[in-house]
Amino acid sequence: MIVIGVGHLADHLGVHRNTIRNWIREGKLPARSAPGKGYMLKEDDFNKVCQEFGLDPARLKVRRLPSRSPGGLASDFAAPEVRSIGPRSTRLRPNPQWADACLTCGSCASACPLSGVDGLDPRKALRMVTLGLEDELIESQWPWKCTLCGKCEDACPMNLELVAMFRAVRGLRPRDQVPGPLHKGVQMCLNRGNNLGIPREDFLFLLEELGQELAAGECPGFTVPVDRQGANLLVTVNSKEPFGEPDDLKHWWKIFHAAGESWTVPSQDWEGVNWGLFTGDDEAMRTLVGRVVDNMRRLDCKTLLLPECGHAYYATRLGLQKWFAQEAQGFEVLSIFDLLLRYLREGRIRVDPGVHRQLTTYHDPCHYTRKSLKAFGQSYAEEGRWITRQCCPDFVEKIGRAHV
Ligand code: SF4
Ligand code: SF4
Repeated sequence: MIVIGVGHLADHLGVHRNTIRNWIREGKLPARSAPGKGYMLKEDDFNKVCQEFGLDPARLKVRRLPSRSPGGLASDFAAPEVRSIGPRSTRLRPNPQWADACLTCGSCASACPLSGVDGLDPRKALRMVTLGLEDELIESQWPWKCTLCGKCEDACPMNLELVAMFRAVRGLRPRDQVPGPLHKGVQMCLNRGNNLGIPREDFLFLLEELGQELAAGECPGFTVPVDRQGANLLVTVNSKEPFGEPDDLKHWWKIFHAAGESWTVPSQDWEGVNWGLFTGDDEAMRTLVGRVVDNMRRLDCKTLLLPECGHAYYATRLGLQKWFAQEAQGFEVLSIFDLLLRYLREGRIRVDPGVHRQLTTYHDPCHYTRKSLKAFGQSYAEEGRWITRQCCPDFVEKIGRAHV
């Protein structure tokens, strides 16, 4: 068996490390995770990969392990089971086996960017749950300091679902003790259709005004198509934009206009951001995703564009997958990356790489890459880079003093 570092392999193949992970998940590369950041694969498969990519195997830094089951290595490649530690009931029901499953290796704590902030330690949190200290964990700030970024899970050799655990613990806190404005935003959205409580008339007035500005400038004849029955694309809105950064709405509208898209914005329940994901409130999360589905039906749209914000994309896609799988068969669901790739490949929009000549890099959003890969088997690491490269010719992979 060969063990090779994922970064090392990615560098030599000229692809991003998430691409390697995608290949493994899709079965294109018969390898599996090894302790640390490495991947383990059979010598023959390693040689085939090298041959396919024109690499000299002797130039790659690898470790060779003795075979544990000569002649019968197929079982070595079986994907490990994901062990759910997140209970779906109203209280955590710790399984004593979690204590056995956790190696207390500390990989989660090492990977966590917030490790040590107010003492946060995902390994200790798991111990608290398994030792019956759930009330202490619910009352603590740890589940709320945690950003749910998923780096700990990515590092865990036992595939323990620490994010699900933290989210479940959040959901067990009394709603009036949810920190910050999160639960108020959820309630506002349930009551008024958006997180910030923007009245319908104000929203519609703003859309009309912004549309007129565009029509008078870059997009002659432009209007914002509200509640257009039978439009191809239904677009939801992040309430932060009409509330605080209304001009940001125009960026996407200009793209739709240039692409000749048939699109619409619903006049009600248009919020694209779902804070139920953050508060651990499945009931609210489901209701809000259900409203998006209702708008698709009501307006008879063919394509749902998931929101640009990574968390909003993840929450809506997760909600569709968990609760509305059948309904979602009735329409196409696209991320912004899918839509931009389609427009660019079909020549519906063109970009001028002369506009952004600055040194540029790309920061992978957690929800579009690591978490999307785990939840949906699909990461957008390559897509984001490809689109950025079309616009920014001086693209580099590493963050230095580049624009992001
Ligand atoms: S990485 Fe996984 S196995 Fe290791 S301490 Fe954390 S939860 Fe336990
Ligand atoms: S999800 Fe992210 S912030 Fe939370 S414990 Fe895991 S690594 Fe730390």
